[in-house]
Amino acid sequence: MDKYAVFGNPIGHSKSPFIHTLFARQTHEDISYQAIAAPLDDFAGELKRFFAAGGKGCNVTVPFKEQAFAAADILTPRAQLAGAVNTLKLTDDNLVIGDNTDGAGLVQDLKNFHVDIQGARILLLGAGGAARGVCGPLLDEQPAELIIANRTFSKAQTLADIFAEKGNISAAEFSSLSGDFDLIINSTSASLSGDLPPIESSLVRPETAVYDMMYSAGDTVFLAWAKAAGSRLTLDGLGMLVGQAAESFAVWRGIRPGSKQVMAELRRNLAV
Ligand code: NDP
Repeated sequence: MDKYAVFGNPIGHSKSPFIHTLFARQTHEDISYQAIAAPLDDFAGELKRFFAAGGKGCNVTVPFKEQAFAAADILTPRAQLAGAVNTLKLTDDNLVIGDNTDGAGLVQDLKNFHVDIQGARILLLGAGGAARGVCGPLLDEQPAELIIANRTFSKAQTLADIFAEKGNISAAEFSSLSGDFDLIINSTSASLSGDLPPIESSLVRPETAVYDMMYSAGDTVFLAWAKAAGSRLTLDGLGMLVGQAAESFAVWRGIRPGSKQVMAELRRNLAV
């Protein structure tokens, strides 16, 4: 049985062991998957011990994604652009490959709900690690325009500069946003404290799909706001979570599990 894990700190509430156990059952892959609380000052050591004990690959979550980036021997192009790693895989030559599947998870989730990215005018709120992880995969789908707005404008500008070669991307102040958006994605952590990013509800039309990377049992505060503003399609980040896990599973095992059943089970668990 091949060993996989998720590293984080804290890690107790991680849904990854549940998700990957269901993926393994669905695909008949013989794997184990555990949660590992790595010490804050020794992620690299814990990782080494895991691989030395037969580990084949792992997910990495807060606060170790940048340390995982540094620990990898080889980085995939999407991990390089993301500046962070959420998936590590040990090769037969004992090299550690670092990948980032967060953006692919978001894109897959949007596609599952038939949200058109190609040709879309997209507003991305926030310019932290999650935003950086999704810019590349979103631009790969050739949107008409990707505009990043962030409380600290300079961080939005930095992201726009990093991804300038991949497509039509720019930074904007919240106060200067205007026009129609086909898709608005909230990657700020404002929802965690029940806050809203400072955007006008007039930017939301009935046809505007609104996505919050955060998820909860009911609507997040952002999605409740978007519905009140008139959006007919609001989605939370549970699908992105499952999508990035499915992509990691495919990186490790070469087989892509379906997300539907796992999503339904997670949704049921969130509700209780
Ligand atoms: P970071 O800490 O790297 O970035 C946080 C971002 O939120 C920054 O742009 C910050 O702006 C902005 N922000 C924070 N508070 C406010 C506020 N009150 N008003 C406006 N902007 C605010 O976090 P991450 O990028 O790693 O994560 C962001 C969110 O995405 C989290 O809620 C996380 O749970 C979620 N996420 C979901 C995933 C999924 O699979 N569903 C995967 C990864 C993340 P500033 O730069 O000005 O500080």
